[in-house]
Amino acid sequence: MDLLAAAGRRSLSGAVAALSCLLVAGATPQAEGRAHAAPLNAFPGHPDASASALSGQRIRVDVVYPEANALIASSDSNFIFGSVGNGRALLTINGAPVRVHPNGAFLAWLPLPPRGDQNYRIVAVLAADTVRVTHPVLLPPERPILSSDWPLAVDRESVTPLQPMILRGDEGVRVGIRAPANAEVFLVTEAFLRYLVNGAALPDLSFSPTTFDSSVARSYAGDSLRWSTSVLASDLTGTSVIGVARDGDTISVLLPQVTLSEEIGPLFGMLGPVATQVPDSDRAVVARPSPGGTYKWLLHPGTIVEITGKEGDFLRARFDEFLEVWIATADVQLMPRGFAPVRPRPGNSRLVSSQHWVDLIIPVGARVPYYVETLDDRLNLTLYGVRANLDNVPHPTSDTLVKAVTTFQEATDRARISLHLSERPLGYLVLWEHGNLILRVRRMPEIAGSAPLRGLTIAVDAGHPPAGATGPAGLYEGVATLQIARRLEAILQSRGAQVVMTRTDDEPVELGMRAVIARRAAAHAMVSIHLNALPDGINPFEAHGTATYYFQNASVPLARLVQEELLKRLRLRDLGVTYNTFAVTRPTYMPTILCEGAFIMIPEQEEAARAPEFQTAYATAVADGLERFFRALAQE
Ligand SMILES: [Zn+2]
Repeated sequence: MDLLAAAGRRSLSGAVAALSCLLVAGATPQAEGRAHAAPLNAFPGHPDASASALSGQRIRVDVVYPEANALIASSDSNFIFGSVGNGRALLTINGAPVRVHPNGAFLAWLPLPPRGDQNYRIVAVLAADTVRVTHPVLLPPERPILSSDWPLAVDRESVTPLQPMILRGDEGVRVGIRAPANAEVFLVTEAFLRYLVNGAALPDLSFSPTTFDSSVARSYAGDSLRWSTSVLASDLTGTSVIGVARDGDTISVLLPQVTLSEEIGPLFGMLGPVATQVPDSDRAVVARPSPGGTYKWLLHPGTIVEITGKEGDFLRARFDEFLEVWIATADVQLMPRGFAPVRPRPGNSRLVSSQHWVDLIIPVGARVPYYVETLDDRLNLTLYGVRANLDNVPHPTSDTLVKAVTTFQEATDRARISLHLSERPLGYLVLWEHGNLILRVRRMPEIAGSAPLRGLTIAVDAGHPPAGATGPAGLYEGVATLQIARRLEAILQSRGAQVVMTRTDDEPVELGMRAVIARRAAAHAMVSIHLNALPDGINPFEAHGTATYYFQNASVPLARLVQEELLKRLRLRDLGVTYNTFAVTRPTYMPTILCEGAFIMIPEQEEAARAPEFQTAYATAVADGLERFFRALAQE
């Protein structure tokens, strides 16, 4: 069935009925050859704009995005979308013709307004009616042009390091600046004067060679280069200056100071904030491999770590002798000076079987950093900063899930415990209770091949509010996602599943709570329903389609199957199955995925998202994907 055609007919007939009392006269047909970067043919068979245009409705200009006076996060082109209220209107933005859709919506990808003006000048025309709107925006500050001729200038935003840091004295620091290619660039510290090099010419082998990124260089206006060198952190503890000189002119840039961690002394921090609405086991503190890097470790509030560095808004924490990670400063409460934690020595562990899960119980004492790796036939738990005594783990021989437990001392203060499994677990949870770390491994539920969803609990998460996107014609994402989620609820129930809705009305539900609702209901899977939008600076005519996201490895099979079904039914481009660290994809107790079925910022897809046919297709695809996932797990 052609959903879009159906959607178009439905909305058109409704609108025409509502407007039947208005005079339909004098409307100018949409201009021939609407200028557009790319045809919107993602939904084949969508009724042609000119054939189904509304008429008789007065024109107005509502810009949905960007908001007036918003700072645009793009340096050349951006999208602008909204509605002119009438599908027959002619529209230009900054002189460029823009296609108007049958429902009056528009989406344009245009060069940014000129810097001297910073306004979108929007003109909508319908017969004798003309509406002119000036829509102001803020453009990002221009990077200075660094010319080989007069006057000498540097790009102060390009200086590294930009912020004060805490480091060990023997760590290297990259010092650099973008400056004219024909300047002399040097670093003056309290200890030495050193010339910076640009990598193209290396005048003295005692200078550190640098990598020169030509792609970065190309985007610079003028004849500039990135000049850089590496120095020891201990060389930057006093006043340090980058100097740029040419023909008797000099510009100096003061560098932020480095504080040495050995001078501060041992420093410890507790992950938190500990006081939080959500119980400990539901609130994870994120640790990353680099400042601002990807989420890798999800830790419990109350865990104590040594702090060994600081860069910008991130603290560096030591997990054990061989691993340092980065944690947002706001997530760490520094302990008073003189605090000396005792390194935990986990005692003998045990395994306790129960109907729905197996608990590995390790008496650790204090909370320690950990990492759980899930494989098809194994679950590896790594404990950092522990002197482990784990060899003896008695376990019930009758357990159907855990076949064996092995331990390995990876380093002086790092231990790994492996649970060897007879089948893939549904999920896991790490809990702290009475000084014990409990790794709860969830058994797969019993599944009937004939009705795989019967008896299962599925958490359905209607994305937003808070936040969320709005389409050109004003459809709020949170409205559409709830309608789709409601349809999914009904389909799942009709197939025998119990459904837990994280949201049932327009009241905002905090992101972190959504996963908690699913876990408390012991859901066997969780699906979050969304409609996509792009950040500034990406051409929406090239970048739209259907995507499904996961965070845990164990959620990949579900993500793939749901994505396949969505592609089959929605017939949009395949943007793939992608790793992302959304709050609703991070839970470990069940497979969880997030679907971005379509793009609400694309006029045809926004229109479709209103239509019951599209909403049912979206919901059915998710239900079918869930069913295929669990059918594959059915006991023969
Ligand atoms: Zn969303």
